[in-house]
Amino acid sequence: MRTIGLLGGMSWVSSAEYYRLLNERTSDVLGTPHSARCVLYSVDFADIERMQADGRWDEAAAVLGDAARAVQSAGAELLVLCTNTMHKVADEIQAAIDIPLLHLADVTARAVLDAGITRVGLLGTAYTMEQDYYRTRVERHGLDVLVPGADDRATVHRSIFDELVNGTISDASRRSYQQIIAGLAEAGAEGVILGCTEIELLIGRSDSPLPTFPTTRLHVDAAVAAALDEHVGTGQS
Ligand code: GLU
Repeated sequence: MRTIGLLGGMSWVSSAEYYRLLNERTSDVLGTPHSARCVLYSVDFADIERMQADGRWDEAAAVLGDAARAVQSAGAELLVLCTNTMHKVADEIQAAIDIPLLHLADVTARAVLDAGITRVGLLGTAYTMEQDYYRTRVERHGLDVLVPGADDRATVHRSIFDELVNGTISDASRRSYQQIIAGLAEAGAEGVILGCTEIELLIGRSDSPLPTFPTTRLHVDAAVAAALDEHVGTGQS
């Protein structure tokens, strides 16, 4: 098995989930007592959050590029960037390293297509829902992507930054998400991408009126498959 590099801390709550799922998936595939060969570099999210809010994406790209190089130096043979949002600077991170970055939007889009779905809702940070870097990448796979209206986007964004990245799971937020997902279904979505790596801690499969695509779990499964594959593919297009 190749060594998987995790670039996390965005937030540490979801990185803990990545680590747990990575080991569980590895032992599911290889049998117990196997566990994942991996290295984790975890940033201070306060720094990254401020850069996002200030629009200092170049600075964030430089910080994460340095971190990715450290992950590579520690022996990683592929890189998993443990956040949807910071895929905004995925190209810059990839340019900083020689190992392949397993792009989360590609992994997710393939899972949606495999489910036979062509029109999918997207929930995530405002950056992920409103800017091009993620949607366009998913749409390039031939999918139609729907996002909620402005008020609902603000609700989702607030719940991520005020609650989920701090490990707060609220029933009131779960109910809001259920309504928002129902709205996406009414607008024609056949499934919903949980396009923020903490959302699946709030919304399980049975909580959602639509089939869910939980990006942390999908990313982990793809990383384990790539780590066990003779030809490590990045899926980069
Ligand atoms: N983990 C989140 C994501 O998947 C949000 C935290 C961040 O802004 O990186 O987008």
